[in-house]
Amino acid sequence: MHLNPYGEEVVDLAADLANRRPETAGELADRCRAAGLVLEHPVTPRDLDRTLAALDAWEQVVDAGGEEERAGLLNRMLAASADHPRLTDHAGSGWHLHYRDDRLPPGALLHQLISVGTALHLAGRGMHRLRRCAVAECATIFADTSRTGRRRYCSGRCANRDAVRRHRVRSTAPGAENP
Ligand SMILES: [Zn+2]
Ligand SMILES: [Zn+2]
Repeated sequence: MHLNPYGEEVVDLAADLANRRPETAGELADRCRAAGLVLEHPVTPRDLDRTLAALDAWEQVVDAGGEEERAGLLNRMLAASADHPRLTDHAGSGWHLHYRDDRLPPGALLHQLISVGTALHLAGRGMHRLRRCAVAECATIFADTSRTGRRRYCSGRCANRDAVRRHRVRSTAPGAENP
């Protein structure tokens, strides 16, 4: 596997999988590969089940009411999936840390990557930097890696949609000058 767990790729992958759940083991494998995650074992239906369960737990982390609750839920995911850190040079491309046994099947590996990657993202950039799009009927999950940490929308499209709506609300409010 070669995703940097300190980078944003893992949280982006988790959001992508949660926003549009993979339906088959083959689709899960394809989407991991597309995100740059090379799985060393074939993905089975059991791996898909484990990943979907991990995404359910992860969505609770996304929707947590505050930092304490978010940390508690994520700590539970870490306890269920991560192992002691260890140095490895398994690909011969440089020493780095793995928070797991190298022989884990893909489902357990994804559970662990999503947990550790999200914990590192939140601890490194800010506990609030994981949320759903501010357009209520969109609700797409995204990791906020913006400079300011105040990103509110999943996409430019949703930002525009909301700007248009707020403008309309203003111009039809009592006392507004527009007819
Ligand atoms: Zn590695
Ligand atoms: Zn959106």
